[in-house]
Amino acid sequence: MNLIILFPEDFVAPSRARVGGRRLEHIRTVHRAVAGDTLRVGLLDEGIGTARLLGLDEDKAELEVSLDASAPPPPPIPVKLVLALPRPKMLKRTIQHATAMGVKEIHLVNAYRVEKSYWQTPWLAADRLREQCLLGLEQSVDTVMPRIELHKRFKPFVEDELPAISAGTEALVAHPVGAAPCPVDIGRPVTLAVGPEGGFIPYEVERLQEHGFSAVHLGPRILRVETALPVLLSRLFPAS
Ligand code: SAM
Repeated sequence: MNLIILFPEDFVAPSRARVGGRRLEHIRTVHRAVAGDTLRVGLLDEGIGTARLLGLDEDKAELEVSLDASAPPPPPIPVKLVLALPRPKMLKRTIQHATAMGVKEIHLVNAYRVEKSYWQTPWLAADRLREQCLLGLEQSVDTVMPRIELHKRFKPFVEDELPAISAGTEALVAHPVGAAPCPVDIGRPVTLAVGPEGGFIPYEVERLQEHGFSAVHLGPRILRVETALPVLLSRLFPAS
């Protein structure tokens, strides 16, 4: 947790906030902070500033928050991510990585090789996805919550919704086979489709290609989704 993210409901006065739970635990055990220490805080969807720890007990830490001269969060990465729904463990990690890398729009989509049971996982509930995003934001010192949408049917999504999503972007599907090398430092917004653990089937790649997607690869090594995504993003948009 490189940033303690505050929510409007944490504030008990205009510049005074109380935090408990995981954030309190972090302040106690990782920061080992004591009254008077300064911590880095951000207000959800707003700027990043500092807070002075006024005191803490078993239930809460009380903070004097200074967001007056707050800095903006880091710029987002201009990527709309279309991600075939991974199994729950991988989903959690991939959402965290995507959020930490600055992705602000994620479409979780069905595909032939997505197991039906994955759609039943409690980790797809809005509050659970939000928790994973928060972990990514805390990690990367960002405050802006990504938007996540679920699309349980591949074909209607690709035909009816994807054209509007990918409009004005370079549309790429990461696919190990029969593809061109993934561009480096692409310099324009991208809609990036990443397949399920078994990969997209040819039918799905063809439908995406019909809708303007170009297939790109990362070389002969097949990477797990949670690895392929950061590699793709850092190749398309090298950190400046
Ligand atoms: N056997 C599957 C195949 O050949 O498509 C492997 C799927 S891989 C574990 C899961 C997804 O990660 C792929 O659908 C693709 O989107 C992405 N990926 C992994 N390694 C890749 C590579 N070397 N090039 C392009 N995409 C890759």
